[in-house]
Amino acid sequence: KKVYLNGKIVSAEDAKISVFDRGFLFGDGIYEVMVQLENGLFYKKAHLDRLQDNLNKIGIQYNIKEIDDNLEVLLKASNLTDQSCLIYMQVTRGVAPRKHSYPKGVPATVMMYALPFSLPHINPKNMKAILEPDFRWHRCDIKSTSLLGNIMTNEAAMNANTNEAALVRDGVISEGSHTNIFFVKDGTVLTHPANEHILNGITRKIVLKLCSDLDIPVNEKPIAENEIEHMDEAFFTGTTTQVASIAQLGSRTFYKNDEIGKVTIKLQKAFAQLREINTAN
Ligand code: PMP
Repeated sequence: KKVYLNGKIVSAEDAKISVFDRGFLFGDGIYEVMVQLENGLFYKKAHLDRLQDNLNKIGIQYNIKEIDDNLEVLLKASNLTDQSCLIYMQVTRGVAPRKHSYPKGVPATVMMYALPFSLPHINPKNMKAILEPDFRWHRCDIKSTSLLGNIMTNEAAMNANTNEAALVRDGVISEGSHTNIFFVKDGTVLTHPANEHILNGITRKIVLKLCSDLDIPVNEKPIAENEIEHMDEAFFTGTTTQVASIAQLGSRTFYKNDEIGKVTIKLQKAFAQLREINTAN
């Protein structure tokens, strides 16, 4: 297995990072996940732009051009050129004596790897999810490597034998532990607005664009926990989740069998069609 680390391709065993790396000590870094499908890197530019935006937000001085220029190098070294795969990338604030203040003049630590990974055209799962308190911080718009709140709520979902946790902040549904969440009511698609309480998912943005292309009305407004029972359909979105129907959310059962709502299906099909074209740029 090969890893890209600070400008070089090395084998995974030789990819060593200092214990003084701020990513390790503080979770002081940004990450990104994207997939390569039949027609290349799926929404590569959108993912790299988000990575750059996030780095700028937290003042890590790094230009993602280096990553962009080395993606093909990594894929080749990993024998994954033109293969279905998942690419993980992270950039941390680098190695410095442990001190909260940002160190000056320290190069960022840049790491990425690619693994074989395939995705069905449509996610076959009809998800079950629990509701969990959203006790994360108030900058969930930042794709930080510090994911304690996300992994703790996800673990609660696993322990409840469900697929995902939908998070509730101030009485409204924000997002999933590693997904965005959408509802459908009377033909209108509803989702939490992209503010500091959610990660503005690339898949979320794609789905909103598909709604506009398909003349499906959209309302970016938070859904209260007590409104869930009145919703007609619900689905999660994410890079590896794609568009996943929700059969059950908390005490609300949307479907008893393998049924899927008609707006959800429409979006799943439209989303699958994007794989027929090259979306990298
Ligand atoms: N919200 C959170 C908290 C996430 O971690 C993710 C990414 N897995 C998403 C939403 C979905 O983002 P994207 O569609 O860009 O994968």
